[in-house]
Amino acid sequence: MRVLAMLDGTLADPGAPHIRVDDLGLTRGDGVFETVLVVDGQPRELGPHLARLSRSAAMLELPAPDLAAWERLVGIVIGAWTEPGEMAVKLVYTRGPEYSGGGPTGYAIGLPIGGRAVRNRTSGVTAVTLERGFDPAVVERAPWLLLGAKTLSYAVNMAAMRHAEKLGVDEVIFVGDDGTVLEGPTSTVVVASGGTLRTPPPSSGVLPGTTQGALFRAAERAGWSTKVEPLRADELATADGLFVVSSVRKVTRVHTLDGAALPDATELGTALNALYEAEYR
Ligand code: PLP
Repeated sequence: MRVLAMLDGTLADPGAPHIRVDDLGLTRGDGVFETVLVVDGQPRELGPHLARLSRSAAMLELPAPDLAAWERLVGIVIGAWTEPGEMAVKLVYTRGPEYSGGGPTGYAIGLPIGGRAVRNRTSGVTAVTLERGFDPAVVERAPWLLLGAKTLSYAVNMAAMRHAEKLGVDEVIFVGDDGTVLEGPTSTVVVASGGTLRTPPPSSGVLPGTTQGALFRAAERAGWSTKVEPLRADELATADGLFVVSSVRKVTRVHTLDGAALPDATELGTALNALYEAEYR
């Protein structure tokens, strides 16, 4: 099942064409997006997702999104969804048509969550470290690279995922030229060691993750310490647990990195997922 609502709040046929061929989101990847997890009709971390949509739009110098309208739109999509369990709502906001005027394009689409992502949450995943091709020091120097904005220009991210698939590996962990850990193509990296959760900082050009934020909030309440600080790639293999987290993945354990088995973090993964889930009860 799929449900589409345009930014003016009208429901539309998700199988019919709605986007102009000169839309800059399509021709240049010039736009931003968010993917929100919805469980039993409740969107998770909607405030942080909308705040990030605003931040990304500001980095692209798009008109500020009307967050009340986007929140209503999420409600409309969820209201029209008739299947039980989980779904994802993808929010897409582009600069709009290049030649025909009319301003930004916006819509929200409700999508089912793939079985593989759900299975990986319990089975854990294999991952490979891949070069991202920049030194985090460039983030400050070159704001036009839009590092840390959730833009529609995800062709590189998708290519990295296909590269991993060809290697027979589930997930990618990008590493910077300075040897520090960045993020996955669509996930945040979290390591657990001795009662501390760590994740790389947004200043290294990674997206501040809404799931990582929720997990750290929950973990702190349960007595964990948390650190947002640079992580060296060679620390990944020796941590008590390595996780890729995102709205769709939740907290997914990595059991094998670059072909080598990691310390068993099954119990740790179960405990962290329980903390994360308790945020929504
Ligand atoms: N990093 C990148 C590059 C992403 O695309 C995503 C989500 O798609 C994330 C991190 C995780 O973010 P969130 O937890 O908000 O889904």
